[in-house]
Formats: sequence, structure tokens, C-alpha cells
Amino acid sequence: MRTDFTPEQLADPDTAASEKILRACTHCGFCTATCPTYVLLGDELDSPRGRIYLIKEMLAGGKTLTADTVKHIDRCLSCLACMTTCPSGVNYMHLVDHARRWIEQNYRRPAGERILRWVLGTVLPRPSLFRLALRAVAVVKPMAPLFPGPLARLSALAPVAVPAASSTESPQVFPAEGVRRMRVALLRGCVQTVLAPEINEATIRLLTRHGCEVVVAAGGRCCGALTHHLGWEASALAFARANIELWERERLASGLDAIVVNASGCGTTVKDYGFMLREDPAYAERASRVAALARDVTEVIVNLGLDRRSGVPTGHRQRVAYHSACSMQHGQRLHAGPKALLAAAGFEPLEVPEGHLCCGSAGTYNILQPELAAALLQRKLVNIASTRPDLVATGNIGCIVQLASGSPVPVVHTVELLDWATGGPPPKALCLVSGRGGGRNRE
Ligand code: SF4
Ligand code: SF4
Repeated sequence: MRTDFTPEQLADPDTAASEKILRACTHCGFCTATCPTYVLLGDELDSPRGRIYLIKEMLAGGKTLTADTVKHIDRCLSCLACMTTCPSGVNYMHLVDHARRWIEQNYRRPAGERILRWVLGTVLPRPSLFRLALRAVAVVKPMAPLFPGPLARLSALAPVAVPAASSTESPQVFPAEGVRRMRVALLRGCVQTVLAPEINEATIRLLTRHGCEVVVAAGGRCCGALTHHLGWEASALAFARANIELWERERLASGLDAIVVNASGCGTTVKDYGFMLREDPAYAERASRVAALARDVTEVIVNLGLDRRSGVPTGHRQRVAYHSACSMQHGQRLHAGPKALLAAAGFEPLEVPEGHLCCGSAGTYNILQPELAAALLQRKLVNIASTRPDLVATGNIGCIVQLASGSPVPVVHTVELLDWATGGPPPKALCLVSGRGGGRNRE
């Protein structure tokens, strides 16, 4: 794509980086077919190609930033399906991240939107605050249908009861079982630890059982993804720097072979720390080192080899619809590994039709864009149902919450199934359904 930025504009490193991305786009349009918003709305401006054009115009300043331009960019899920499809290697992720920052700095949203975005960006990344907010929402949850759009969705997604904090949340070191094969740090996370503390518990059991010493370091929680996607650059970078500080401290003190992330949305962001902090001389090198160490938990287990020494499934082989989160399949290009692990663990992984399409979760998208998110959820649930699964597995907490809000079968984290198959307890969601400690041996 032709661009005509001025030398002054290109002096800005973000604009210079975006210009390179824009120039790589040939406008071929292959990406439109796999873009969820284009599939739903059929509007060129809700396709990657259309958004790339809008972003170019916006950054070049040739057109006033209108509510309409912002609407089309806001509708983007950052699912990155377009990046998987693009034959020219256009880094749409960095482009839309820049666009979101630009909008945040140059556009004044209506008051209601500003308040909602402020609440999401302030509460969600802080577990104590989020837990308190959820308790308050639980009280008004029965009246959720009476609330306006985003508030109704927020209330509907909130759990009826907020789980108690897990003992694994506090900083500590979990020793490896048997011979230590790796020493890894676990990203504690924010939203996931509050909504589903059992996921970190299963991750720690699985890793230690496979010879990993697991460090839950003091300090950092949120990876920064939530505010990054809201365009809050300072906040996102502050979260990133805090994590880099604590993991580098840990690496220098006792060594680290990997930084394990068990929410693929967070993993995509941590793997991008090097780019996010490339202009910060105090952090650039350390950020790249941390990004290079970041691994999804399934990557670690694939490398170590799944050890099924106990808890082997018997009887009915559970049919597991594997929902490949966008941040897993498009953001991190991981798809075959998690499915192969599920198969090795004794489950029957099922490929979901239209698996490249987002479920509508996309961080805070299901709250900020409830109608589009609901349409994508319905489409996803129909596709999942067509596989006739016993349960659904995925590797991202946002997808778990979104799918569970409409799924007739339990939705669990992949790691919970791997933990179960290697000697851990059955996933909580299965226990809740069967009331008998899991449904695996159902015949
Ligand atoms: S597929 Fe790639 S090169 Fe083609 S229009 Fe989309 S982003 Fe541009
Ligand atoms: S990130 Fe997803 S929603 Fe956004 S333009 Fe690309 S394919 Fe479409």
C-alpha cells in the first residue's frame, strides 16, 4: 500500500513501524474471508483491509478522526485471524495496537463509554478489586436482564458465587517431583486467578509432576494485555515492566528455563514484550529476553512429553471439542500441540468447524461490543454442538467464560484435563455437572 507520511511523522517510532506494516499490505483482500466482523457484517470497513486503510488515513492525519472510523476499529476483535491468512506477512497486530493507542490519545469518547472503559481497565487487572466487584455484581445478578447492554452482559458473565482465593496465589516455590528437569516461573495472572483459581492449581500440579520447579514470584500479576487492548499504553507498559523486573530478578538469582503462561491472551502479550518496550533503553534488552522465555503451558508439556503414569481414563473416551483460542492459534500459532496432548491423555479431540472464527470473548470485547460478541458466540456454540462433544476444552480464560455462558456441556481449561489424566483431580466444571467427582467414567 502506498503511504505518504511526512519526515516529521516518520520521526515518531510508532508511525515509522506502522508505515512499514502498511507498505507490506498489497490490498489483495484474502484476509476478508476469515475476518469474523466482515463475515458477520459484510462491510469492507469492518474487514482487515478496510481497517488498514482507515488506520493509514487516521495516522497520516489526512482525515479528521470521526466516530465512524473509531467504530470500525473498535469492532475489531484483535483476533488476528487476518494475520494467519495474510500471504504478505502484514503485522496487523502491531498496527491495530498502534491505532488503539492513537484513538485513546486523539479522540474523546462519549461519557458512558469512557466510564465503562475506565472501570474495565481499572478493576479487571487488579484481583482484589475485581473480587470485590464480582461480589457486588453477584448481588444484583438476578436483575441483569433489566440493565442496559454492556452492564447486562457484564452481570450475565459474572459467576453466581466468587471462588475463594487459592493458596497457590501467594509467592512461593513448588518443588519438582523427582529429578528437576526445568525451573519455570508462572505468570499468576489477574482475571483468571479470581474466576478460576483451579487453573493455576492444575498447572502447578501438572508442571511439578513433569519435573518442573515452579516459581510464583512476588509482585506482578496482570501481563498488561487488558489495558494494552484498551489503548492505555502507560498502564500496559507499567504492568510489563513490573513483570520483567521480577522475572529477571528470579532468573539472575536462581535461573529460569521458561516463563509459563496458561492464558493464551496473556501469552501473546508477554511474547510481544520485546516489541512493546523496544524504544525503552532501560528495558528493551530485558523485555526481549523475557519474551523469548515465554511459553504456553502446553508448549512446555509437549517438549517434556506427557507422562500418563496414573489417572488413565477408562471406559468412555471423552469427546472433547477443542476450541482453539484466537490468541493461541493466530497470536501464538499453537494449534496441533494442545490437541496432540489431549489425544495422548486419552481424550478424543474434535476439530470445531469454522475453528478460525473468534467466539466473541476477545478480552473485554464481549462487554464493549455485546451484540457482535453474542452473534459470534451463538455461531461458535452451533459449530461446537455439531461435533457432539462431551465437553469443551480451551486454553484461555476469556473463552472459557464466554463459551460457558451458553454451552450445554462443561467448558474446561486444557490443562485441567491434562492434570486429571496424569493423576490430578477431575476438573471442577465436570464435578459440578456430575456431582459425583467427574464424568469421565460415565458409560
Ligand atoms: S491479506 Fe494481507 S496483504 Fe492482503 S489485504 Fe489482507 S492484510 Fe493486506
Ligand atoms: S483482528 Fe480479527 S476482527 Fe480484527 S481485522 Fe483481523 S480478522 Fe478482523
